[in-house]
Amino acid sequence: MTVTVSKVIKRFLLADFAVAFKVGLQYFFRPKKTLNYPHEKGYLSPRFRGEHALRRYPNGEERCIACKLCEAICPAQAIVIDAEPREDGSRRTTRYDIDMTKCIFCGFCQEACPVDAIVEGPNFEYATETREELFYNKEKLLDNGDRWEAEIARNIELDAPYR
Ligand code: SF4
Ligand code: SF4
Repeated sequence: MTVTVSKVIKRFLLADFAVAFKVGLQYFFRPKKTLNYPHEKGYLSPRFRGEHALRRYPNGEERCIACKLCEAICPAQAIVIDAEPREDGSRRTTRYDIDMTKCIFCGFCQEACPVDAIVEGPNFEYATETREELFYNKEKLLDNGDRWEAEIARNIELDAPYR
C-alpha cells in the first residue's frame, strides 16, 4: 500500500512538472511584459503630464505674459506669481514659483495658459532627496523648458488635431 501511494505521488509530481515546464516554455518565447528600467523606457503619450516647464519663443523671449490664469485656476494653490511691467511696456513675471509637493498634476495650468508657456513636460525622472528641491522657481522652470523644448513642441503638435 505504501509503495502504491508513493508511485501515485511521483506520477502526480511528474505530471505537475510537465505542465509547469510547458507553461514556462510558452512564456519564455512570448514578448516580455516588463522593461529593464532605467536602461529601457516605455511609450509615453504626448498628453503625459510630467515635470513642469516654462517655455520660450525661438528668439529666447519668455512666452509667459504674466496673466496669472494658471495661478488662479490651480486647485492646489501651488503656483505663486509676481509681475511688473518692463521698460518696453510688456508685462513679465518677476517671480514664478511652483510648489511641486502641492501639485496634483491635474494639468489645469497648462490648459488655462493662452500662450502655451507653462506646460507639463515629458520628464518623470525628477525625484529629489530633499523637500526643498521640489520648490521650483522661475529659473528652474525656464531651465526645464530650454532642456525639453524639442519634446514639448513635438507633443503639442501631435495633440493639436484632437483639440
Ligand atoms: S498641474 Fe494642477 S495642481 Fe499642478 S500646478 Fe498645474 S494647476 Fe496646479
Ligand atoms: S504661464 Fe501662461 S497662464 Fe500662467 S501667467 Fe504665464 S501666460 Fe498666464
